[in-house]
Amino acid sequence: MKALVYHGPGKKSWDSVPTPKISKSTDVIVRMLKTTICGTDLHILKGDVPEVTSGRILGHEGVGIVEETGETVSNFKKGDHVLISCITSCGKCEYCKRQMYSHCEDGGWILGHLIDGTQAEYVRIPQADNSLYPIPAGMDEEALVMLSDILPTGFEIGVLYGAVKPGDTVAIVGAGPIGMAALLTAQFFSPGKIIMIDIDESRLALARKFGATEVINSAKADAAEQIMASTKDGVDVAIEAVGVPQTFDICQQIVRPGGHIANVGVHGKSVDFQIQKLWAQNITLTTGLVNTNTTSMLLKNVESKKLKPENLITHRFTFDQFLHAYDVFSNAEKEHALKVIISNT
Ligand SMILES: [Zn+2]
Ligand SMILES: [Zn+2]
Repeated sequence: MKALVYHGPGKKSWDSVPTPKISKSTDVIVRMLKTTICGTDLHILKGDVPEVTSGRILGHEGVGIVEETGETVSNFKKGDHVLISCITSCGKCEYCKRQMYSHCEDGGWILGHLIDGTQAEYVRIPQADNSLYPIPAGMDEEALVMLSDILPTGFEIGVLYGAVKPGDTVAIVGAGPIGMAALLTAQFFSPGKIIMIDIDESRLALARKFGATEVINSAKADAAEQIMASTKDGVDVAIEAVGVPQTFDICQQIVRPGGHIANVGVHGKSVDFQIQKLWAQNITLTTGLVNTNTTSMLLKNVESKKLKPENLITHRFTFDQFLHAYDVFSNAEKEHALKVIISNT
């Protein structure tokens, strides 16, 4: 089969590799129909995730068709259309019992990380009963690719951890796919205002279309100053969706007393936490890796069209254009790219 293979920092290719086989009775082999590229894949390619070794097939998102099932798999059979969760979970360990699937003792984020991933014609999914979701007939499968990772991540780690409430003023720092996912799902709770902050005008324009009530280009203006001037004393919820010290800093400058900072961004460096100012502000700061324990709920909202994650898709490619898809996604600002879909046709 063909797959996108990582060959060490800066190196990847579209290679012919052996087709995966069932290795445990709880495995399923899925024939991929559609997948995407995540910002995390770009981090891996830069060499920021050293536990990913040369020869690894990347990718942790997508939809496909069950090709083969292990002996003890009971929820799925050959031919079923399935959504693949970026988090693998056994459903039995202590963390799984607490719905903290990201810390599953026999799973967690392993796809395209510690085991071969979804940017391939076929993928082996361990713990399949708990890590796959059946796709209801007739659903838009492209939209569902957004449910493998970014929608649950923005919702669980941004919106739920940030405890967004009706009437709240919410600021989202970063209008990339994750920030947009938080913007779409924050609206479940009817916040009064959603302020989107980014340095890319075209992303800010999209954010307005997706429901942001105010946008700030932080390359042109001091975002924190502007927010403090337009609110009485800051925002109820500041969602960090970039993962660099500057954007974390904006969040700690704009959070109001009693407010929440929900960090979603993947940080590669330490930040300067202003505890000398914040200790007396009764704020909470949360961080996390997605648990995907809200995937079924999000799927229902996509099915009923209350949530339209397909709007995040800007580009479409076929599997033989995989390297080109990476080029476009890596130059997101120039290409006006948000999420790309790569289809196995
Ligand atoms: Zn991802
Ligand atoms: Zn587990």
